[in-house]
Amino acid sequence: MNRRQLLKTGVLAGGMYAFPGAMAFGGNIPEKGVVENVGHIKVRLGELEIFLFSDGHITLKNPQPVFAPGVDPEEVRKELKRVFLKEDRLEGAINVMVIKTGERLILIDTGSGYHFGETGGRLLHNLKNTGIAPRDVTDVFITHAHVDHIGGIVDNEGKTVYPDAKYYIAQKEYDFWTSEKPDFSKSKNPENPGESVKLAKQVFRAIKNKLIKFDYGETLFSCITPELAEGHTPGHTVFTVFSGDKNIKHIVDTVHTPLLVARPEWGTQWDVDFIQGVKARKLILEDNYRKGTLVMTTHLPWPGLGYIGKNGNDYQWVPFPYFTPNEIIL
Ligand SMILES: [Zn+2]
Repeated sequence: MNRRQLLKTGVLAGGMYAFPGAMAFGGNIPEKGVVENVGHIKVRLGELEIFLFSDGHITLKNPQPVFAPGVDPEEVRKELKRVFLKEDRLEGAINVMVIKTGERLILIDTGSGYHFGETGGRLLHNLKNTGIAPRDVTDVFITHAHVDHIGGIVDNEGKTVYPDAKYYIAQKEYDFWTSEKPDFSKSKNPENPGESVKLAKQVFRAIKNKLIKFDYGETLFSCITPELAEGHTPGHTVFTVFSGDKNIKHIVDTVHTPLLVARPEWGTQWDVDFIQGVKARKLILEDNYRKGTLVMTTHLPWPGLGYIGKNGNDYQWVPFPYFTPNEIIL
C-alpha cells in the first residue's frame, strides 16, 4: 500500500497507530515523543548534533522607539496586529545554538549571563540540565559584542564561565569595540552606548589570551562558515552551519522580531549603523527567501528556527514545523 492508497483509505488521516509501516513516513520523527521540557531542542543535521538552548527572553514595555523609531505609532500598531504580535509590548527570545562535532562542543554566543536579572542567563542552568558542564565547552564563537551575546562569558565575580574554552571573533568586530572611541554616529540610539563599550572591553580583556580572530569566508571546525552582515554592529557575523549537503543559516540579529521581517526598513535603534542595518536585513531576507534556506535567529520566537516566506510583497516569518517537542532530524 503506498502513500496515495493510504490517504484514500483514510489510514493516514485517522488511526495511524494501526499501521505497522507508519514509521516509513516518519523519517524526521525520532523514536521518543513526549519527554520533560529541558530548555533545549536537539536538531540532527547530518553528522552534527545541534542543540538550540533558551537563555530566557527580552521584554520591552513599548515596541517603539527601539523598533521602528520615527514611524507613525498607529501604523506600527496596525502592523503588529497584522503579524499577530502584542501591541503594548515587544518580546524577544534569546536562543543559543550549541554544536557538537567530534570532540568539540561549540557555543555560538553565550546569552546574557547575569546582566538581565530574572529574564535571562538561563543558558548555564539549561546546559547543566542536559549534562553539559562549563568545562565541556571547547570553543565559543562570538557573533558580535552586544550584552545578550557576550554577557555569559564572564560571571559577576569577573571569572570566565567556560574555563577551558577558546574564543573566536571577527577582527572587524573586535577592532570596533576595543577602539578608543567607537563611533555610534550612524545609530538612531540617543542613549549613551557607554555601558556596551565598557562590557565589551572588560570581556575581551578577560579572554585576551584565548581569543582567536577568524576571517569571513574561512571554514571553522569543518562545519561553520562565517560571513559579514554589517549594520547591526560593524563586524556582525552571520554564518552557515553545514554537514554534507545539509545546512542551516544562522542570521543572528539581522532581525529581532517578526515585525522587522515584515517591515525591514523600519529598523532598530540597536543597530550601530541604522541605514546599513536596513540594507543588510533586506539583502539577507531576500537571499534566504529565494533559496528557501532553513534559517536560525537569536531573537525570533523560541527556538528561532524557520523560513522566510512572502505574503504578497511582504516577507513573513514562517516557523519551522515541529512534530515532536524536543528533537528533530533534518
Ligand atoms: Zn541580540
